[in-house]
Amino acid sequence: MCSSDLADKVRMRVTMTDQAIRIEGLHKTYAGRRGETPKEALKGIDLEIPEGSIFGLLGPNGAGKSTLINILAGLVVKTEGQVTIWGFDQDINPRQSRASIGVMPQELNMDPFFTPRGALEVQAGLYGVPRAERRTDEILDMIGLTDKAEAYARTLSGGMQRRLLLGKALVHGPRILVLDEPTAGVDIELRQMLWKNVRRLNEQGMTIILTTHYLEEAEEMCDEIAIIDKGSVLVRDSTRHLIDQMDSKTLLIQPDMPPPDDLALPPGVTLERRAGGQLAFGYATTRTSPDDILAALREAGIRIRDVATEQPNLEDVFLDLTRANARSEEHTSELQSRISS
Ligand code: ADP
Ligand code: MG
Repeated sequence: MCSSDLADKVRMRVTMTDQAIRIEGLHKTYAGRRGETPKEALKGIDLEIPEGSIFGLLGPNGAGKSTLINILAGLVVKTEGQVTIWGFDQDINPRQSRASIGVMPQELNMDPFFTPRGALEVQAGLYGVPRAERRTDEILDMIGLTDKAEAYARTLSGGMQRRLLLGKALVHGPRILVLDEPTAGVDIELRQMLWKNVRRLNEQGMTIILTTHYLEEAEEMCDEIAIIDKGSVLVRDSTRHLIDQMDSKTLLIQPDMPPPDDLALPPGVTLERRAGGQLAFGYATTRTSPDDILAALREAGIRIRDVATEQPNLEDVFLDLTRANARSEEHTSELQSRISS
């Protein structure tokens, strides 16, 4: 390494403030394929991902999640913006920034003629890991492929190939592990094995970034999340805070008789009739108190057998934000300020 490289390295680490990843003004426009117009996949992303977190990147199909991750991985070339990985600017210190991150891609991309052992060794070679420092057996054990170490990749099941992708992402001992839809379409056993490994790696200090379609999973796994849609970040916050800030709640009532169709409800309150005669009243906590709803029922002469409330979850947050984004950009910025306030 030449001395100016080293100086860069030292300077970058000094200016870093415990962010594993810092993204500023990131744009990506894919050139249009024959006759197609260019596709603006990322429209100015600013994002900081703290060291040591399990960070979820959520968003509907086509939101730009894989584009973002593939830029971090160095697989897609950004159009504009700055990406700093573990304190290393991707453009100034490409080698160090690449060495700091391991990516398990969304798509299976196995060479069918490699064995798991061969694939891990080749990957380690690509990252310049000296033979004496390779942890091939340890990784094979961790991903449960010791028995299949010498089998051709094409004979492995889809689940095994996914596990091998995880192993490949870990050969160079990265600080940051990125998983792109790791559990899409995989069986429960593989999912559990994956989360167990992810949790353990995180406890050992590894920063984890993942995308998932399963919001329950994100709610359970991620300390912080960013929701992206149409190439922009709609919101970024701790998972707990996002859910707590949701204004909508549901009051569940078991009445002694069905209420009339013209039941008078406080403004803004919705009623959904559920199985077994249960009534689900949706309301905004900033507008209505549960007592207003109970009073409306008493007014109609209805007695209440049982009461419960339903807390919003990440799915509600997600739907609220992405639907709003589909309706109008204006409305979204209002929601954003509401959630982040
Ligand atoms: P996600 O992972 O959130 O589903 P992607 O990053 O894969 O989203 O895609 C974002 C947008 O960019 C989509 O509209 C997709 O069709 C488009 N896109 C992705 N890859 C390419 C590519 N190589 N060439 C052209 N357009 C692409
Ligand atoms: Mg994707």
